[in-house]
Amino acid sequence: MEEKERLLQLRKLLKRYSYEYYTLDKPTIPDSEYDMLFRELQDLEAKYPELDDADSPTRRVGFEILSEFKKITHERPMLSLGDVFSYDELRDWAKKITDVYGKVEFCAEYKIDGLAMSLTYEDGLFKQAVTRGDGITGEDVTSNVRTIQSIPMSIPYKQRYEIRGEVYMPKSSFNRVNRERIANGEEEFANPRNAAAGSIRQLDSRICASRGLDGFWYHVPNDVNSKTHYGSLEYARKLGFIVNETTSLFNDIEDVIGFIEETAKIRHDLPYEIDGMVIKVNSYDLQAQLGFTSRIPKWAIAYKFPAEEVRTKVEDIFITVGRTGKCTPNAKLTPVKIAGTTVGFATLHNEDNIKDKDIRIGDTVIVRKAGDIIPEVVRSIKENRDGSQVPFVFPEHCPVCGGRLYRFEDEAAHYCVNSECKARLVYSIAHFTERNAMNIDGLGEKRVEAFLNEGLLSSFEDIYKLHNRREDILQMEKFGEKSYDNLIAAIENSKQNSLERLINGLGIRQVGEKAAKVLAAYFKNMDTFMNASLEELSNIHDIGPITAEYIREFFNEASNVEMIHQLKMLGVNMDYIDTSTGEESLFSGKTVVLTGTLEKYSRNEATALLENLGARVSGSVSKKTDFVIYGAEAGSKLDKARTLGVTTLSEAEFENML
Ligand code: NAD
Repeated sequence: MEEKERLLQLRKLLKRYSYEYYTLDKPTIPDSEYDMLFRELQDLEAKYPELDDADSPTRRVGFEILSEFKKITHERPMLSLGDVFSYDELRDWAKKITDVYGKVEFCAEYKIDGLAMSLTYEDGLFKQAVTRGDGITGEDVTSNVRTIQSIPMSIPYKQRYEIRGEVYMPKSSFNRVNRERIANGEEEFANPRNAAAGSIRQLDSRICASRGLDGFWYHVPNDVNSKTHYGSLEYARKLGFIVNETTSLFNDIEDVIGFIEETAKIRHDLPYEIDGMVIKVNSYDLQAQLGFTSRIPKWAIAYKFPAEEVRTKVEDIFITVGRTGKCTPNAKLTPVKIAGTTVGFATLHNEDNIKDKDIRIGDTVIVRKAGDIIPEVVRSIKENRDGSQVPFVFPEHCPVCGGRLYRFEDEAAHYCVNSECKARLVYSIAHFTERNAMNIDGLGEKRVEAFLNEGLLSSFEDIYKLHNRREDILQMEKFGEKSYDNLIAAIENSKQNSLERLINGLGIRQVGEKAAKVLAAYFKNMDTFMNASLEELSNIHDIGPITAEYIREFFNEASNVEMIHQLKMLGVNMDYIDTSTGEESLFSGKTVVLTGTLEKYSRNEATALLENLGARVSGSVSKKTDFVIYGAEAGSKLDKARTLGVTTLSEAEFENML
């Protein structure tokens, strides 16, 4: 396309995007893309001055207002800001000023990502709040702004006073509001800026009040009390306005850059969004000398952080299986650069997320990569659909092992429950060998992975066949005779473990060390446990219905039953070994709860002692509890026991019973 034609096309395009962004609060392209097109247009306009047009987006602030709010003309125009995207551009901007005026003091501030607002006070009372609008005329949103708690309704200053700043939506409010919108079947807000703008434009101020907006105040257009910008902010602070506390003065642009770098590191931890920094000449005198263009002040500039949201296409959606069997859907993207790195994949989190956001294969989407987070698909751009997009159907089978996928009640994720699924293998074998499970010293996660890569291990059963692979193991790096012997001895020993270790090692969801103990003591052997009905499992104290369901799902998988059979054939003990004294005690068969700090026993020692006496130690007090043994600083459990009439024992009374 010819350059002049492109120039005209860009003007049209940017007008459309501005309308979507400012008027509808519904952008269809990321800001970074808008900024790039804006730059391209500026460059072309500089090249072809004969095509000058006062209506060009490069000459205008904001966009036409089409709301039902009363229009108010600003006393002084509310302008936009020029922007730079690199430190060199920022240096150039500063140099142009210092070259003429010598040493200059700069004020650097966070660029809050919200919407600009002007507040006016008369006789010390809040009078009016007006949006920036097209810079000349804004909307009267006084009643909505009144709902923002942190904005003072009166100030200790009687002259007419105008202050400008940013109304924004804190990240916590943004997440809450979007959750509510999803639940109500409404479309999510694209970002906190659009959410804030959308909220301020509500005709019913109760809606605005419910959105949790806040404000930072950063500009007093006509401050007769100060000589500098910073001074005017200090004064505003005294009047009761929230001025961002990080706002700082610098004498050298290099120090400003240092401040930007520091801010870039922590920006994701802030409770609100910032999309850059604003650097302003501090002296009012100098500001006056530098002046304005029709769109921007020449004494300020915005440094924009590298884009974290970009537009690209979802080429495909595929599932990855994590180490716990959790299946995550991912988008294969047409690769794009985000915040300095090329991104080709992004997470889609889970099935509900795909459905709620209606993300389809072939969709144009906005992808976000911020800080350390994994790139994620934020939303799809429905307007770009041409009918070829395909909704994604979550698979019923694991893409790695072909086993059935399960989605348990109250869970968003799907899981592959086949413990021998290759994707889960390293994790599940390492869990099996863990100290609290089969306790096989010398077979931690790293070594399991190495054995897996060497083809020495691919199942729990293989552990008990490792003694047949002596030569292969000894050939491995860092593997001497001694460690081999120790490993084989540890494996051999583990065959004698009591059933609870094996149950814990299986890695059934929600069946950890404690539940395994309860189950082993209850069922006494693996066969009875494996064949227990859902009802019987749910009725066991300390085993909830969800855990019971996980257990049943696990043994409904034929490969898991076969694995247990193989382990038995290899000599692994399948019975519960009762380590209690066997003698009847006052605690035999009783449910006991420990609370507070005992003097003579640690919690673990007391638990072991009671279990040896045949007691079941529980974490919570109920009517079924037989004894509550309490130590110093016992709290709510002791109170509850007393309310329920459960027998309570002090440490001394407990010892007497022993
Ligand atoms: P801007 O957001 O780049 O900068 C000016 C604004 O920064 C001010 O009006 C003010 O609201 C804000 N600001 C925040 N903190 C400030 C501080 N400490 N001091 C001074 N001002 C501060 O400019 P703009 O004119 O509001 O918007 C233009 C931008 O909007 C574009 O660069 C683009 O990123 C975005 N946009 C996006 C689309 C889209 O389709 N995605 C369309 C139009 C505009």
